[in-house]
Amino acid sequence: MKVPLVINTYPISKFNSIVAGVLLFQGFYKPRIMAAIVLCLLTFSTAVLAQEVKPEETEDWSRKPPLVVPGKPGNPPSDAIILFAGKKDLDKWEHADGRPAEWKVKGKTMVVTPKSKDLQTKQKFGDVQLHIEWKTPDPKEDSHNDYGNSGVFLMGLYELQVYESYNYNNEIYYNGQAGSIYKQHIPLVNASLPPKTWQTFDIIFKAPVFNSDKSLKKPAYMTVFHNGILILNHVELKGPMKYQGYPEYEYHEAKLPLLLQEHKSRVNFRNIWLREL
Ligand code: MG
Repeated sequence: MKVPLVINTYPISKFNSIVAGVLLFQGFYKPRIMAAIVLCLLTFSTAVLAQEVKPEETEDWSRKPPLVVPGKPGNPPSDAIILFAGKKDLDKWEHADGRPAEWKVKGKTMVVTPKSKDLQTKQKFGDVQLHIEWKTPDPKEDSHNDYGNSGVFLMGLYELQVYESYNYNNEIYYNGQAGSIYKQHIPLVNASLPPKTWQTFDIIFKAPVFNSDKSLKKPAYMTVFHNGILILNHVELKGPMKYQGYPEYEYHEAKLPLLLQEHKSRVNFRNIWLREL
């Protein structure tokens, strides 16, 4: 593509005057030399003027965005993949060992069943926009370190923490509270709502890219809105979630299941949908 040259000619004209003035002042003024200089400068200015960008040159008609009908508040847009909107969607999920989903469904809500293990989608995904709603149970139900503990694992590897962080007296490290990339990034703010209240995560996830020799080409990135508030702004992920030790990337497939964590707490989920990017 031709790179348009964008130069305002006004400073050039001003520059011309200054040059002419300097030449005169230094006694270089001779009619023929001066005429040649003026001619050169005029030619240069005209050439620049000829390359001035027309408005239509910066109009991009190469890709017409497809029409998407936004959902009413609480509803997915027209091009979303619905992962959970009620009992009929439970068969889109399974446990890692292939067992059918054992988590309970109450109306349009999916509830973590303690000790049943994590749940993951049968379908695999890479780059996505993901919407998910969750609420933590009454804290009296939970014990230390399990206060509403769950997690949204993009590609089953990269954890956005679900936790009861409305009450500040829950002592957990800041990169382990709700909205953290677990043990990697502290959220910009704590946008948590009280326990037993529905909360939302809206996530933009960019999957890592690997070279043909399986080395890392580009890391993963995540942007997250918690209850509509930006809490993670295009943060670079250091690798898959690691509870003990430091994360580092290992080659994996370009698409992997979305996973929800079972961490003893009866966390509720609903209205889970995503758009592949
Ligand atoms: Mg967790």
